[in-house]
This record gives sequence, structure tokens and C-alpha cells, in this order.
Amino acid sequence: CGIVGYAGSQQAMDVVLEGLRRLEYRGYDSAGVAVVADGALASVKRAGKLGNLEKALGETPLPSATTGLGHTRWATHGPPNDRNAHPHLDGPGQVAVIHNGIIENFARLRAELEAGGVGFNSDTDTEVVAHLLAAEVAAGSELADAMRSVCRRLSGAFTLLAVHAEAPDRVVAARQNSPLVVGVGTGENFLASDVAAFIAHTREAMEIDDGQVVEITPDEVTVTDFDGVSAQQRRFHVDWDASA
Ligand code: GLU
Repeated sequence: CGIVGYAGSQQAMDVVLEGLRRLEYRGYDSAGVAVVADGALASVKRAGKLGNLEKALGETPLPSATTGLGHTRWATHGPPNDRNAHPHLDGPGQVAVIHNGIIENFARLRAELEAGGVGFNSDTDTEVVAHLLAAEVAAGSELADAMRSVCRRLSGAFTLLAVHAEAPDRVVAARQNSPLVVGVGTGENFLASDVAAFIAHTREAMEIDDGQVVEITPDEVTVTDFDGVSAQQRRFHVDWDASA
């Protein structure tokens, strides 16, 4: 229901948790986060309120990291428990994915992956994306290329964000019939389902259209369509009062 991604120089977990708190008003049943540090992913997720997640993070702190993402879930496929909370990882834990929306053709994709020997850890429509992305990257694709390729196979409504253990400085996102906006900072960039998530850090924003993939690093924002054709960047200034 709420999505936040960060690539910059601050502690990613602080930025992500603060962003999720600002999106709490939308309602949710579970929450989770992932960071990329030293060539590995670390993720914690819990059913219930953000307080449950924060308690778990207090017991098992994530490593210091400047790239990360976070999600609040409103369950559509699978009950609201810890294992169905996002992020979802592939088997070896190389890719972490968060998703708002519904992937209509997930059952067919899941059957295909299971027939190929892939094991699943959740009941969600989302998890197929983690396995598909991991396979594309393992076959040699950059994460953004992998996202474009996977999106061409998906139907439904989705905002997707992904990080990869071997791409420590970037977050890749896709949008189809579900909200996604970029916050453009100096030496840091943000992804979110709503500008409220990053307005404390920057008021420079960029619209992302349906059918687009965006990659953020601390210094760059790259937008293309699902075929990899560069898209024009549409910047705007957020001038409403953040405290409203
Ligand atoms: N369909 C996904 C799920 O049930 C995402 C739900 C959401 O938008 O939070 O896990």
C-alpha cells in the first residue's frame, strides 16, 4: 500500500522508516524493509503495525547501508502474516522486491517457475517477480534490463521496486496502473508511492508514467519505457505544506 526506496548517503533505514510512517495514513496490515550492504541483502518484515517491524529491527538490527527500500502491505493474495509481508526474495537472496497492486497472471508464472524447480516462500502474487528478476540477472542482465524484461511478461496493476545484492548503489522501479513518483535530491534520490514519503528531504519530484521503468542511484535518475527507449523526464516542484 505504501512504497519507499532510497539511494544516497544517509542511513537508508532511517529514511525508509520515516517515509513509511508518513504513508501510514493509507492503512496497511504488514510492513517490511531491505537494505543492500557489502554485497548482500538484509531484510526484516512483520505482520502488523510499523511498531512490530521496529521492534524486530531493534532485536536484529540491519547492517549500515545507504541503499534500501520499504513497504506497507494491504493484502490481496495471501493472509497478512510475516511470510507474506514484503519484501520478497528469490531463493539465494540476491533480489528483494516490494509491490503495490495485483499481478493478474501470477498463477501461470508461478506454475512455470515451479515446474522449473523454483521453491516459493509465500502465497503472494508478488513473489514471482523476485524469482523472474533473479533469473534474468543471473543470466547476465543489468537489474533495470531485467525489470523491463519481466514487466513485459506481467499483466495487472503494479508499482514494483527492486534491489540486488550485487548492485549496491541503485534501486529499480516500474509502474503500471499504480502510483510511483521520484524525489530528486542532491547526492540522493527517492522513490515512493506518494510525495509525502520524501517531502522532508526534497521538494523536487519527477512524474513516472504507466509503462515506465526508472533506476535511481545517488546521482542519477534514468527513465525508459518497458522496451528500454529513453523517456523524457517530467520534473515538478511540490509546494504544498508537508505538515498538512
Ligand atoms: N498483491 C500484493 C500482496 O497481496 C500487494 C498488496 C499491496 O498493494 O500492498 O501481497
